Amino acid sequence: MKLVFATNNQHKLLEVQKMLPKQITLLSLKDINCFDDIEETATTLEGNAQIKTDYIVDNFNKNCFADDTGLEVTSLNNAPGVYSARYAGIENDSEKNMQKLLKELKNITNRKAQFRTVISLFIDKKQYFFEGICKGTILTEKQGEKGFGYDPVFQPDGFNKSFAEMTSEEKNKISHRGIAIKKLVDFLTNYAE
Ligand code: IMP
Repeated sequence: MKLVFATNNQHKLLEVQKMLPKQITLLSLKDINCFDDIEETATTLEGNAQIKTDYIVDNFNKNCFADDTGLEVTSLNNAPGVYSARYAGIENDSEKNMQKLLKELKNITNRKAQFRTVISLFIDKKQYFFEGICKGTILTEKQGEKGFGYDPVFQPDGFNKSFAEMTSEEKNKISHRGIAIKKLVDFLTNYAE
């Protein structure tokens, strides 16, 4: 089965590709010659994931899935949430986003946070949603070099290291996206039978 993953993020594509069963061939946006900038204008993760799958269905008529992730920090009323990529104003400037987050949390003792991923799947004209949550805390300074985004400042519960100090295999097992993808993979495995 061929499935489009509506992303341009090679990092995520590889992460997900590793978790999928062999009978599912993953296609990137590039693979279907989609070079459009799909604007994520919704105010929820569910809404943004749906915007992306709607776009592929409407314009390319392909089975597809899309994800959207946010970092929800309890003492910041769940900000940056759906705006995580542009928290510091510039889209996907991870360094600036982390610096802003550390500044906002300076002297704040409740550093609880969670990453939440929502996946929208469109298959055979039906839509499904899958959710994955990873709870943890925001560190007081960056730790580790691996991963991407907010990984250096996020320590998952039950671990003494940040996401950026884990291998991708270690992270995939417990991460928000790993959990949501696992639900997607379980669904697709049963669906294909
Ligand atoms: P997206 O919806 O996956 O593009 O993620 C939105 C924002 O959250 C981006 O700024 C990412 O850097 C950040 N983000 C998403 N997933 C992760 C992760 O696994 N670790 C750290 N940051 C992430």
